[in-house]
Amino acid sequence: MSLALLSHPACLGHDAGPGHPESPSRLKAVAGKLDRDLVSVGRAEWLEAPAVRDLDLLLVHTARHLGGLRQLDAAGGGWLDPDTRLGEGSLDAARRAAGAAVLAAERAVAGEGPAFCAVRPPGHHATPHRAMGFCLFNNVAVAAAVALHRLGVERVLIVDWDVHHGNGTADAFRAEARVRYVSIHQWPHYPGTGGEDDVGVGNLFHVPRPPGLPAEAYVADLLAATDRAVAGFEPSLVIFSAGFDALRGDPLGGFTLEPAHYGALTCAVRERAPEAALISVLEGGYDPLRLAEAATAHAAALAS
Ligand SMILES: [Zn+2]
Repeated sequence: MSLALLSHPACLGHDAGPGHPESPSRLKAVAGKLDRDLVSVGRAEWLEAPAVRDLDLLLVHTARHLGGLRQLDAAGGGWLDPDTRLGEGSLDAARRAAGAAVLAAERAVAGEGPAFCAVRPPGHHATPHRAMGFCLFNNVAVAAAVALHRLGVERVLIVDWDVHHGNGTADAFRAEARVRYVSIHQWPHYPGTGGEDDVGVGNLFHVPRPPGLPAEAYVADLLAATDRAVAGFEPSLVIFSAGFDALRGDPLGGFTLEPAHYGALTCAVRERAPEAALISVLEGGYDPLRLAEAATAHAAALAS
């Protein structure tokens, strides 16, 4: 079965601000590499991401958050926090990014195979109440909530290997035992959350680690946490919150992974949930060429 690659041209229309690391060039690099390595040889195909429905967003976000973004959009945009800007085209991009994640979940749960969402803005810092850290809507959380509430899925595992803690995702599900959330992240680092003792209802598996962590230790610690998360749980949907800013040399991170690690990690997580439908949504990663290589290694492993 070929891998579905979900995206939309509107995702390039979000301008996060002059000199901002979360730039359209990231997605252009990823799409180009996916095209060359997977689409051109028939291993993957592009599908157009729909705009997310309000009904789906409201499974995670408050009406006040949606209304606030809409108001700011109508007023010509502005800064939501010192890192996060809503400009012309940002809301459309965010709606396509979340819509991609939802369609990916719908397809995967229906048995139509795995999907990778090549989208921006990223999502895992967006809380139910607010945008933050480059993120407007929490794409992964919305997909997980749709799976639970609309698709009849009973257990969702989210694996977040972005170098930053996905505080928004943890907040969305800290009281939801049907979702287990594994996050390995640099500590101390932005956003300052994700301590080992923050366990939710026993469903949050946080692995904070210092900068410079050797790649072998990163892999071992992430997989150990995944083992704990799947014990007695058997997810029927696995969602990768796939940031690639844990790569060595990333301008926003201090970890030491190489692109090939993401292919191996994808396979290793997959082995731990062999019956699960699989989807993945792009989060961070700020060296466009390295990001493109790593995302493609991950997508190739999803496609295999
Ligand atoms: Zn990140």
